[in-house]
Amino acid sequence: MNPLSRVIEDGAVAVEGGLITGVGKADDVKPSKRAEFEIDAKGMVVVPGLVDTHVHLAQALIRGCADDTSLIDWLQKFVWPLQGNFDAQDGKASAELCILEMIKSGTTAFLESLLHTRYGLDGIAESIETSGLRGFLSKTVMSLPGYGSEQSIMHPGMVEDGETCLREVETYFRRWNGKANDRIRIWYGARSLGGCTPQLYRQIAEGAKRLGTGVTMHLNEVQEDARYAKKEFGKLPAEFMDEVGLIGPNVVFAHGVWLTEPEWAILARKHANVAHCPSSNMKLSSGIASVPEMMRAGVNVGLGCDGGPSNNCYDMIREMKTASLLHKVRTLDPLTMKAGTVLEMATIGGARALGLEQQIGSIEVGKKADLILVNLRSAHLTPTFNPVSSIVYAAEGSDVETVIIDGRIIMENKVVKTLDEERVIRVASDRASKLLNRAGVTIPSS
Ligand SMILES: [Zn+2]
Repeated sequence: MNPLSRVIEDGAVAVEGGLITGVGKADDVKPSKRAEFEIDAKGMVVVPGLVDTHVHLAQALIRGCADDTSLIDWLQKFVWPLQGNFDAQDGKASAELCILEMIKSGTTAFLESLLHTRYGLDGIAESIETSGLRGFLSKTVMSLPGYGSEQSIMHPGMVEDGETCLREVETYFRRWNGKANDRIRIWYGARSLGGCTPQLYRQIAEGAKRLGTGVTMHLNEVQEDARYAKKEFGKLPAEFMDEVGLIGPNVVFAHGVWLTEPEWAILARKHANVAHCPSSNMKLSSGIASVPEMMRAGVNVGLGCDGGPSNNCYDMIREMKTASLLHKVRTLDPLTMKAGTVLEMATIGGARALGLEQQIGSIEVGKKADLILVNLRSAHLTPTFNPVSSIVYAAEGSDVETVIIDGRIIMENKVVKTLDEERVIRVASDRASKLLNRAGVTIPSS
């Protein structure tokens, strides 16, 4: 994923003190002193760690709670009542479940988009710290309990007050931003249109500038965003975001399904980023984002798995295949969204969205050692003529054998070293059924 997109056969990577110090043919790569240990990666591909640019940690616990449902029912009857009944222990259990799944499928960095106070941000940040993952946590900022023109529809347990939200972002920023060897960052998670006043969006933009941090927000996920922006502000959604100062290189818009050509131009000119979530958009029938067109217009696009009720998994390898195939069939052009393009979106594109393109997203000397080893020695990956196409079109998350973040081995031979896998799964399933009872939500049987 360097600018030359080189694939090195019989290669080796040297790592020292968390950084990549050598990459090339095995014979040419020599650690500066005798290596403490070596990993034999015979039969495997070393790939930059995958970057998930749109994650809801708190939705792992409610995976599959609202399948085959329309968006408003999905939110109002299932997702919001469940999340509105979360306590901090549910938040931590859900985050750990999600983190475990991400590590096991090769995600080494992610952007969480909407953490409400009741999920317990401190507990979640502690889980990031111990897990070894690179986590960007966005604290929800909102002041209206609405979604587009649908006013007052949010579950009371989800509603927060604008001033308190802004204060809390700063508190968590001072407590956690840059902690764990800079693996933790705190961002603003602006709620989508209908959830904030224009004044609050302006305050978010000012706050992010002052703290030197990022903002993420769902934008143009559904057509309603455009209708709402036209009715309320007489503008396209991205034009409105531009007016309130919320378009820049530190901004990641999730989905962007209904973004139009003039909006791509604004995003490209101001170096804002889009997190493309094809599985979620397909499952919720939100529409198909014009990703190849947006990228041609100069917009940086990363990939995102979104959440447990909308995807229903956090597996970036599956997401890459979905992204590629979706745009091929929409454009009737098999040459669009090639394997290499989606692998770039899932690595260096995601790194750029997080402002980390100088630090992660490719295997280059001087970058942080965020690496995954994908094992090709299985029936569904044999033969491998082209490792990039094997990873995108044939591999699955469970083919990831080893995960290294910041030079530290987080998972080796599919065993996660930083979390007790059995405990995480047990606690999560226990808390999920208790949450369902507490919220009074029944999942319809099929
Ligand atoms: Zn989302």
